[in-house]
Amino acid sequence: MTSPDRAAQIATALASVRERLSAACAAAGRDPDDVALLPVTKYFPAADVEILFELGCRDFGESREQEASRKVDELGASIGTEPVRWHMIGHLQRNKAKSVARWASSIHSVDSERLVTALQKAVGHAFEVGERSSELEVLIQVSLDGDTHRGGVEREDLAALAELVEGSDGLRLAGLMAVPPLGADPDAAFADLAEIHEGLLSRHPDATELSAGMTGDLEAAVRHGSTCVRVGTAILGSRPIASPVQSTDHISHN
Ligand SMILES: *Cc1c(COP(=O)(O)O)cnc(C)c1O
Repeated sequence: MTSPDRAAQIATALASVRERLSAACAAAGRDPDDVALLPVTKYFPAADVEILFELGCRDFGESREQEASRKVDELGASIGTEPVRWHMIGHLQRNKAKSVARWASSIHSVDSERLVTALQKAVGHAFEVGERSSELEVLIQVSLDGDTHRGGVEREDLAALAELVEGSDGLRLAGLMAVPPLGADPDAAFADLAEIHEGLLSRHPDATELSAGMTGDLEAAVRHGSTCVRVGTAILGSRPIASPVQSTDHISHN
């Protein structure tokens, strides 16, 4: 059940985020078509996803596997006939790879060889049983400060991980993702990320995606080449509980 108030609220917020994003692109001298807006629907109900769908959104980001998987099933009947792309953007444990392979088009948070191996197997299985027909797009999450507790691979391990993804059947190396370290200056963090991305592109020219920027720092991310901003709060409001990106999500809920 969709309340008209909620629909109006989301419509207004989405319009203002779209404006904010196009202003950021204009300021950075970038084509707005080159920066996708990925609404992050974690902690919000399937009804909110339906509202966003009505407003033209076709891509959605989720960060907790079980919640996402339930939501995808719940929405199957209502928006199942239209192509919708679900992005897994949160930390993923290997034992959830099989489920993610069933519903995700893309995963932004790949950060270990063991996870790549699990995903390759899971996607292979999903192909076999007819649960998916397209490759899983993989973005490698990079840790910009080396504190891998918040997710992400250390920069010195990126090249090897990228090779592994590239060589994995069913996976397509699409690009990189990062979250600025706590308390860091987003401009400095995203400039650093852009440089790491350039290094990756020299070996993997098709890995053009750069998933960077959230509610608080999307302008800085756009200045430094983001191709996808992941925005939750500015579209759907504050989440029910404090949920800093990544860490608490997987520590307290998986
Ligand atoms: C929750 C989340 C977001 C959205 O963050 P907001 O600040 O609410 O826009 C973006 N990226 C990741 C990885 C997240 O977990």
